Amino acid sequence: MPPSDHRRRGVSGAGALLTVDLDAIAANYRQLSGYLGPSTECGAVVKADAYGLGLEPVAGALWTAGCRSFFVALTQEGLRLRELLPDAAIHVLNGVDADTAQEMAAAGLVPVLNHPGQLEAWAGEAQARAATLPAMLQVDTGMNRLGLSAAEVDALAGAPERVVGLALDAVISHLACAEDPDNPLNGEQLARFEAALKILAPLRPRRASLANSSGIFLGAPFHFDLARPGAALYGINPGTSDTSPMSQTIKLQGKILQTRTIDTPSTVGYGATHRAERGQRIATLGVGYADGFLRSLSNSASAFIGGVRVPVVGRVSMDLITIDVTAVPAEATLPGALVDLIGPEHTVDDLAREAGTIGYEVLTALGRRFERRYLGGNAS
Ligand SMILES: *Cc1c(COP(=O)(O)O)cnc(C)c1O
Repeated sequence: MPPSDHRRRGVSGAGALLTVDLDAIAANYRQLSGYLGPSTECGAVVKADAYGLGLEPVAGALWTAGCRSFFVALTQEGLRLRELLPDAAIHVLNGVDADTAQEMAAAGLVPVLNHPGQLEAWAGEAQARAATLPAMLQVDTGMNRLGLSAAEVDALAGAPERVVGLALDAVISHLACAEDPDNPLNGEQLARFEAALKILAPLRPRRASLANSSGIFLGAPFHFDLARPGAALYGINPGTSDTSPMSQTIKLQGKILQTRTIDTPSTVGYGATHRAERGQRIATLGVGYADGFLRSLSNSASAFIGGVRVPVVGRVSMDLITIDVTAVPAEATLPGALVDLIGPEHTVDDLAREAGTIGYEVLTALGRRFERRYLGGNAS
C-alpha cells in the first residue's frame, strides 16, 4: 500500500481501524432466531457496550432485524439503551436495589430479581407507585452466582403476597457449561430449572428463559419461551467444533508506524524476549495492551498481511506491538499500511486461543482508541 493510502482511509490519527459489520450481526440474529422455531422469542444480550462493539449501533441494527427484547447488566446501560429504543423491552440482569428502583421504573426498565432483597425493593417500588411493575425472576440452578436458591424458591412459592404488585414476565436461569454439549451439568440444570418452574407456577410467570448462545445449540428442550444470546451474535463460536456456525462481525487492522531491517542480531522489545537475526524485518504497529491487545499475546499472536502470516514477536507493550514481516515484500510494510489482527482468516476465537482466554474477553477489551467504522445496518 502506498504511504499516502492510510490518509485517504482516514486512520492517520489512530493506531488501528476497527470495522464492525452490522449486517453480519443482523444475519447472526436471524440465524439464531431460525434455530429457535416460532414459539421461542430470540432476545439479544447487549451488556458491556454490546460486548465492546458499541451499544447504540449494534442495538439499532438488532432492532431493525426484528429483536424486541434486550438484556443489559446494569441500570446505567439500560438507561442508555432506553434513549435509543423507546419501545424495546429492556431487562437488567444484575437487578435492582433501593437506589435504582425509582429511575428503573420511570424508564420502563425490567429488572431480573436475583434475591429476596431485590424482590422486596421492586415490590416496594410498585407499592409506592400504586402500579403493577414487570419483573423477571432468576433462579439458581448450578452457577451459584445470581438467583434464588432452591430453598428461597420454596419459600417464595409459599408466600405469594411477596410478589403483589409485580407482573412476572419470566422465570430465568443461566447455564454454566452450555458450550460443552457433553457436560452432564447441562441436563442437571435443565432438570432443576423445570422443577423450579413447577414450584413457582402458582405465581403465574408468563414465560421461561434458560438459553444463552450455546444453550440454543443444546436443542429444543433448552429453548423455552425466550432465548438470551450474546456472544454468538457477535461472531464468537458457540460450540466446541473448529468451524463456527456464526458469521464473523469485526475486522481489526493495526497501522504500521515504522519498519526496520535488523543489521546486527539483537533483541526486540521489553525484556528482550525475542532474538532477531540479521536481515529480519520488524514492523511496529500502534496497538498495545492499553487497546485490549492482551499482554499474554506476547510472542504468540498471529497477524496477516495480504493473507501471509506475520507473527507478533517480542512483548506486547502499552501502545505498540512488533511483528516479523520478513515474509512479505517491503512495499507492503511501509508506514501507514494496515495489518490484519482480527479478520476472516484469524477470528476473535483464534486470537483468544493465542492469548489463553475466550473471545468474550477479547471483544470486551477492544480499545477505545481505535478508529471505528460501522458497515450496513442502520449506520450512516
Ligand atoms: C451474558 C449473559 C447471557 C449471554 O450469554 P452468551 O454466552 O454471551 O450468549 C445470557 N444470560 C445471562 C444471565 C448472562 O449473564
